[in-house]
Amino acid sequence: MPVSFPISATPSVDVLAKIEEMQSNDVHWRDGRAFAYVYYADSALESLLGEAYLAGASTNGLSRSAFPSLGQMEDEILEMVGDLLGCPDPDGSITSGGSESIFLAVKTARDRASALHPDADSFHIVLPASAHPAFSKAAHFLRLETTRVPVDARTLRADPVLMVEAIRANTVLMVVSAPSYPHGVVDPITELAAEAAFRNILCHVDACVGGMLLPFVGRLGRTVPNFDFSVPGVTSMSVDLHKFGYTAKGASLVLYRDPSIGAYQRFIFDDWSGGKYSAPNLTGTRPGGPIAAAWAGIQYLGLPGYLQLVRRALAATQAILDGIDNIPGLFVLGSPDATLVAFGSAHLSLKGVVEEMSRRGWVMGLQGPPLSIHLTVTASHDRVVDELLSDLRDACRAAVAEPEAMGEVGRYS
Ligand SMILES: *Cc1c(COP(=O)(O)O)cnc(C)c1O
Repeated sequence: MPVSFPISATPSVDVLAKIEEMQSNDVHWRDGRAFAYVYYADSALESLLGEAYLAGASTNGLSRSAFPSLGQMEDEILEMVGDLLGCPDPDGSITSGGSESIFLAVKTARDRASALHPDADSFHIVLPASAHPAFSKAAHFLRLETTRVPVDARTLRADPVLMVEAIRANTVLMVVSAPSYPHGVVDPITELAAEAAFRNILCHVDACVGGMLLPFVGRLGRTVPNFDFSVPGVTSMSVDLHKFGYTAKGASLVLYRDPSIGAYQRFIFDDWSGGKYSAPNLTGTRPGGPIAAAWAGIQYLGLPGYLQLVRRALAATQAILDGIDNIPGLFVLGSPDATLVAFGSAHLSLKGVVEEMSRRGWVMGLQGPPLSIHLTVTASHDRVVDELLSDLRDACRAAVAEPEAMGEVGRYS
């Protein structure tokens, strides 16, 4: 039965109680049960983000003159994260999420190419098979052609030879990931950015999941492949704050090394009865809540806070990798560069394993090819590693060995 529009008012306590009731069926993400979708640190940060979010919830970043507070917070976030990523004064903006950041980077590349080559009637992007679907979505919306290039079968990183071979006369953008979502490995960015620069093609580093993770992994003494603006030829990056920035949902960054490239992002329209309209992003109204929460979260955590969160996530990842090694029939794919892990099996039904784990309250994703189970390991998983591995062991015993149909893979619905 569809619900009808409420003909009477409901007291706030009842409304909130109802939300709590509905949420009781959600995955128990505060207890580390979700290995996708959620990045949770602790209740102290959660409260701060909530209060900062509320402080900005009704404000609108579309107008910097009405809301200089949001303008200042946006500028400072761009500068702080740019400082972390080898570009202290980047051009760009805060967006609603990784997909919007990616959409804008693709649109910027297209519009720049279109300005440089006014006669061109088609544009093309080269990306590794592991690059996020948001690039294909953007290319679909913006009518660009794409070539998804197979990754190296052993390392699961972009294959530089095949990537370069895929470049055409109308290629405007090369995409690489730091790291890739499916396998958590960083593509050979130094090599590919140089190839792109040599051909005057833009190079976008998708650091949606890694931009607020890899810099701290490196500072903890682990070797991280070069991936940011310190690499010559990297022209833009996407960095999600609502992932390993651990801030509230609805905050990501698109960054450009050079304002002469970033200038192609903004949309300006002055043939409207409402007056001149100018928007940097895909959205019109820009919610102040996520911006205020992101600014607050970064200030509150600072370098020590992020290092501590990354230390916890790395320790949990190592324990999970060791545990997987010790479960008969499972193996880790590639060598993860950070805290995203994929594991496969030669004979177990991975679909069965995911279902068995789901029955035990864990949310993890089946992906492929190559067929594997994906885990995004965050700080809040450090307390559940033993329980996870013991349940995984049981799930593997319970999952019957059966051949797998690739057609059934997929969890994003
Ligand atoms: C999550 C993610 C995206 C998309 O970000 P959304 O915030 O979900 O839109 C893009 N690229 C990578 C590598 C990601 O992990």
